[in-house]
Amino acid sequence: NKVFNFCAGPAMLPPAVLQRAQSEMIDWQGLGVSVMEVSHRDKPFMAVAAKAEADLRELMAIPDNYKVLFLAGGGRSQFTAVPLNLLKEGEQADYLITGQWSKAAFEEAKRFRDVAIAAEIDMSTKPIALPVDIKVRAGAKYLHYCPNETVDGIEMFEEPAVDVPLVADMSSCILSRRIDVSKYGLIYAGAQKNIGPSGLAVVIVRSDLLRDDMQVPCIWDYAQQAQQGSMVNTPPTYAWYLAGLVFEWLKEVGGVAAMEAHNAAKAELLYGAIDSLPLYQNLVDASCRSRMNVVWQLKDESLNEAFLAEAEALGLLALKGHRFVGGMRASMYNAMPLAGTQALVAFMQDFAARHG
Ligand code: PLP
Repeated sequence: NKVFNFCAGPAMLPPAVLQRAQSEMIDWQGLGVSVMEVSHRDKPFMAVAAKAEADLRELMAIPDNYKVLFLAGGGRSQFTAVPLNLLKEGEQADYLITGQWSKAAFEEAKRFRDVAIAAEIDMSTKPIALPVDIKVRAGAKYLHYCPNETVDGIEMFEEPAVDVPLVADMSSCILSRRIDVSKYGLIYAGAQKNIGPSGLAVVIVRSDLLRDDMQVPCIWDYAQQAQQGSMVNTPPTYAWYLAGLVFEWLKEVGGVAAMEAHNAAKAELLYGAIDSLPLYQNLVDASCRSRMNVVWQLKDESLNEAFLAEAEALGLLALKGHRFVGGMRASMYNAMPLAGTQALVAFMQDFAARHG
């Protein structure tokens, strides 16, 4: 009766983390209360906060000239916070569009500041490939992009080669593979895939990009939050604590390099099945297929419902593609064991044999 949860987010957390959280829930550190009932400004929680930050710094090798913020509001809050913190009125930034999420980030920034599209992916040409000609305006203060498009199943493994600071929405790929943080001006991520519960956002920002004369609502003001240890207001303490447990787990299982190998192996297995079985297809070029979110279609779409129902009966949950794109999607973040992908592939083979 084992269940494998392929939800794109909120996504599965490592069972070891959930068990630990459960064991600590009622009586945390012998205090007789849970972690979510203590002051964020008292020593026990301050230690949790500091340890989570230190572990994240170690896992991602974050250089000292970067601030790490733990903020409320999830991934999308940063669609607004980024332009407001990095651009004054009249200043410009450019956006690379490779799918639904980078498009949404652009649309939100456009409501407040002068932003333009540096290049946009063409989803009508198959296989779908990343745009090559990225045009950044002379005055642009940053280029925003989304290295992993959760909905479209498109991942960009190389940073865009541009001369302005890179701002990356890593909501669905942070900690899944090694990156060189020093190549970025700012990285942000909603937590609910590879970090912890939804509603939390992690922001990693190069200190020289912080400006303390910006008009930003105080809870999203990076400079203020950096000065006050992400505690301008009461932070999402339980989410921060759980993120810390996930970081500890990651260190125990070998860190980001181990996750990279683990994630590559799962993706290879699943894409291999999709490519070899005629019932299925993936239309993304092999160079930019997402390792975290594998999308595919059944060539006979009338079989979609049967596929999903049979999968669910076997404990393979949440395989329905995003409502904007249809088809199927398996999200396989760090916590998804290889056994989950193997069970999915075995089912896909069996289904194909019966319906191929
Ligand atoms: N960016 C990406 C790449 C995402 O996948 C998501 C959510 O799935 C978001 C942003 C939005 O995050 P949130 O729902 O926490 O606002």
